[in-house]
Amino acid sequence: MRIGLDIDYVLINFDEGVYDYYDKQYVEKVARDTFIDEIYEELRHNKEFYLKLKPRINPIYIDFPFECYITARDINPYITYMNLQQHGFPNKPIFNVGVNGIEANSKADIINELKLDYFIDDSIKHFNEINNETDCVCFLMDRLNNKHIDTPLRINHISEFYNQCKYYEQRRI
Ligand SMILES: [Mg+2]
Repeated sequence: MRIGLDIDYVLINFDEGVYDYYDKQYVEKVARDTFIDEIYEELRHNKEFYLKLKPRINPIYIDFPFECYITARDINPYITYMNLQQHGFPNKPIFNVGVNGIEANSKADIINELKLDYFIDDSIKHFNEINNETDCVCFLMDRLNNKHIDTPLRINHISEFYNQCKYYEQRRI
């Protein structure tokens, strides 16, 4: 059973970090967060910003075997590595869509190349892409902006994720 993890929102609080960085009060949005969209160009290569990001969950919940992290961040994976280490997340390879050594333009490409069986992501785009274009089962990390998606693959807390992988694994055989 080969497992991979998304980083932002699943493990690290990216959205709240954007607001913190600009000293603004964060409120989770149901629709797209236009403030983040506006500011993203300014932040996308800002190492200091990425190193300040805080965890969204306690890393003790990542107590299961997994292969790697896959993120759509377009920064040097070493910056992400430092941030994850800072907060005590397991040391595993980090793959970035488009900018890492692997020739991949999407999370689905990376997942196919690494032959992952299970993944978790909060993004509807990645959730659909992975479930449509790979044999990997992608679970959807619950958040306000994806609640309208009707799926049995929804995960309400990361602590449910590994049991769900095992459950689906039994059904595959
Ligand atoms: Mg994410």
